[in-house]
Amino acid sequence: MILESGKPGGVMYRCEECKSVFARAAGRYEDTGEWICACPFCGFDSMAEVSECAGCGGYFESHELESRFCNACAGGVWLRLRAAVDGVFDAHEQSLINEMLDGHDLFEQDGVV
Ligand SMILES: [Zn+2]
Ligand SMILES: [Zn+2]
Repeated sequence: MILESGKPGGVMYRCEECKSVFARAAGRYEDTGEWICACPFCGFDSMAEVSECAGCGGYFESHELESRFCNACAGGVWLRLRAAVDGVFDAHEQSLINEMLDGHDLFEQDGVV
């Protein structure tokens, strides 16, 4: 199997052994003659699919990312949103906004890929 990747923001691979991140796995033959995908740096044959965090640029597995942000970055965005809202709206306005937002998105998602 040839692993195709390498486009910006696309899926990359992270070696489970040396934690190197690479776009294209190397391959080698096992002693049994079986072709396996392997880390191009250390030759380890187990790797995880990872994607780049839109915030810090680190690589994370998809279940670790929320809308392309890692937990740490998502937490930071949430704190900044709270700080911005606190700075602009008083408590009554905030509860109004909570009602208005019920089940709706705060931002249009157009342009977010
Ligand atoms: Zn490796
Ligand atoms: Zn991040």
